[in-house]
Amino acid sequence: MRQIQTVSKYIALSQEGLVSKLECPLDQGLLMPNQDLDGNDFLYCLSCSYKKNIGIQFYEDLNKKIKAVSKND
Ligand SMILES: [Zn+2]
Repeated sequence: MRQIQTVSKYIALSQEGLVSKLECPLDQGLLMPNQDLDGNDFLYCLSCSYKKNIGIQFYEDLNKKIKAVSKND
């Protein structure tokens, strides 16, 4: 699974209440994945300017949580 897709999948599960939401530490806004022009992945907050760069460990953690609640795969 592509890494950005991993985040999208996780967010979908969080909206079903199966995993905890990705929340902004500043205002608890919803964090969304994106990629800058250099190909670096990051999360950004929809309601403030918070931005967090994410690496491979972040995706591995999300994948573990996704697998824990997924029936298939
Ligand atoms: Zn925020």
